[in-house]
Amino acid sequence: MSYVTGRTRGGKEWTPKFVKAIDPELCIGCGRCIKICAHDVLAPAEVDEEESAKMFAKVENAADCIGCEACGRTCKKDAFAFEPIAA
Ligand code: SF4
Ligand code: SF4
Repeated sequence: MSYVTGRTRGGKEWTPKFVKAIDPELCIGCGRCIKICAHDVLAPAEVDEEESAKMFAKVENAADCIGCEACGRTCKKDAFAFEPIAA
């Protein structure tokens, strides 16, 4: 299968890996990934766990992702999954 590819400024081909999911079991809601994404793909979310509310990150605008994986690199909990998309 061939995937959507991009080119670096120098002309080298690369394969973007787009954000697929954030594991809410691993995410601690630190917000680092939300801050680092330059394309406003991620947003905070709140989940009610009985009495206490827990914050975590969610994929809000998946269609705006450019597949840079910066969010995954900044996540200390390794909560991200990425995938290339078919061309
Ligand atoms: S960087 Fe990781 S742990 Fe922090 S909010 Fe994002 S997904 Fe959650
Ligand atoms: S891969 Fe890049 S563009 Fe996509 S959500 Fe992560 S930081 Fe944003």
